[in-house]
Amino acid sequence: MQFKYCSECGEKLILKEAGDDGFVPFCNSCNKYYFDVFPSCVIVLVANEFDEIVLLRQFYLSDKYHTFVAGYMCAGENAETAAKREVKEEIGLDIESLDFAGTYWFEQKGLLMLGFIARVKKSDFVLSKEVDSAKWAKVDEVPALIFPKSSENAAYYIYEKFVESNLSK
Ligand SMILES: [Zn+2]
Repeated sequence: MQFKYCSECGEKLILKEAGDDGFVPFCNSCNKYYFDVFPSCVIVLVANEFDEIVLLRQFYLSDKYHTFVAGYMCAGENAETAAKREVKEEIGLDIESLDFAGTYWFEQKGLLMLGFIARVKKSDFVLSKEVDSAKWAKVDEVPALIFPKSSENAAYYIYEKFVESNLSK
């Protein structure tokens, strides 16, 4: 989101050059730049020791496709903490290891998505109210069940990273 008004005094912002960042909205009264802000989300592929992957049904997102664990980061936490927290909140499992799996810009919602691959021990889920159901899927089943591959679909890229890292084991 690009700011148009100062959030402190309400004045309309002007564009002012800010070094290498080029022209940035600026409040003359408060002498303050307003750089773009956007929410950050984590998206986590959760796999167990049998290389099965957690797929969630969340009807508020899609009645057709499954998704991975995902959620907004909170101010003050780092992405790893957010990933562990979301996995615990959404499916009730504790992460044994966590690997970074790239960042992805989701244009449709103006979100930065931070991808992870998490390993857990296979066990029963304790689902959050946000999750309608969850299941363990075999690696080969996943592409047909998640949103199709597109430049916007972080889940698909993280899935491909998981397959690659498994092949090189
Ligand atoms: Zn101001």
